Amino acid sequence: MNLETLCVQAGWTPGKGEPRVLPIYQSTTFKYETSEQMARLFDLEDNGYFYTRLQNPTNDAVAAKIAALEGGVGAMLTSSGQAANFYAIFNICQAGDHFVCASAIYGGTFNLFAVTMKKLGIEVTFIDADADESEISKAFRPNTKALFGETISNPSCAVLDIEKFARIAHSHGVPLVIDNTFATPINCRPFEWGADIVTHSTTKYMDGHATCVGGVIVDSGNFDWEAHADKFPGLTQPDESYHGLTYTKAFGKMAYMTKATAQLMRDLGSIQSPQNAFLLNLGLETLHLRMPRHCQNAQRVAEYLEASEQVAWVNYCGLKSSKYYDLAQKYMPNGSCGVIAFGLKGTREDAIKFMDSLKMICIVTHVADARTCVLHPASHTHRQLTDEQLVEAGVAPDLIRLSVGIENADDIIADIEQALHC
Ligand SMILES: *Cc1c(COP(=O)(O)O)cnc(C)c1O
Repeated sequence: MNLETLCVQAGWTPGKGEPRVLPIYQSTTFKYETSEQMARLFDLEDNGYFYTRLQNPTNDAVAAKIAALEGGVGAMLTSSGQAANFYAIFNICQAGDHFVCASAIYGGTFNLFAVTMKKLGIEVTFIDADADESEISKAFRPNTKALFGETISNPSCAVLDIEKFARIAHSHGVPLVIDNTFATPINCRPFEWGADIVTHSTTKYMDGHATCVGGVIVDSGNFDWEAHADKFPGLTQPDESYHGLTYTKAFGKMAYMTKATAQLMRDLGSIQSPQNAFLLNLGLETLHLRMPRHCQNAQRVAEYLEASEQVAWVNYCGLKSSKYYDLAQKYMPNGSCGVIAFGLKGTREDAIKFMDSLKMICIVTHVADARTCVLHPASHTHRQLTDEQLVEAGVAPDLIRLSVGIENADDIIADIEQALHC
């Protein structure tokens, strides 16, 4: 089926007399007839629900929809995008391990990787994603377990050369993990370009209405863990917490997702509430309608900004002037996303004054929802970063992140215009 149909139909297929709309299974627990039945679930010998921290039918239906949209073999919802990125890496890295990451990424992910995961003994090396393959390869070590990047980086709007990244990762025997939050599977499906694992902050376009924080991990099922068994003992050697079960042997292509669910979710417990999963599903039902509108509006706004006297620079990969235009045409021919990065001529204070003068467009710590919103990363989301780290993350101190919504583009431009002339 086509993506539009999957957005509406995938995940929940009711049987006779069952609710047409995905029900919210607001239950922590699930009933069994015998003690033996329950014991088999705990040993992963049977598939079934027993406790919502591990699995819940509402969440599973929504995860299945997202897996279908990305073209993966399985998916797991998490309570946030942060949890998704943490689990995606922690599922294959332990203390003493290392991974490589594009430096232009979301500020929260940067902190998670550079500061918090370091405390767990996992080291990261940040690289310039635009560098050539041999340069990026220098960052790899014998204990490197993954390569990570964002399809379109938040907030700098750099476009990743996914095929190049996949080649580099695979030549070092590690999977490529892609945070596909900004593009969504409507505009880019990283598995088609060689990525192995995809993550999302579903908080953004997937929910689309700014109602629920959430995340998801999707596995393509393509990475051959057994071929690099010594690198991934957590998947290819017995798990003592399941009586010596080996994920790759027991679950094949579902090894990575099963470990993430049965081990990480069991032990760390960042589940998405079924209520939030229900709301996320409502968002997904219109994702294919909203994304093109976000892109059309953003294209018009970006062109307006580029032509404006007061604007120093605009980074939107739909503009021919963007250094990422060609990559965007290759990976996202139907449009990229609604997020634009730009800077005003003048001082940092001019940027603040512009934002404070907007009327309809609100200053919010959010991005990628139906309402147009604006943020100054250097003063807000990326506040913790030093000036050096800001530059590394592609965040100029004057960068304004404008998330273009699905209103009428004329009204968005009118608000920007009046604020520029205040
Ligand atoms: C927002 C965001 C995250 C973090 O997600 P939360 O849902 O806020 O935890 C991760 N990656 C990207 C690209 C994001 O935009």
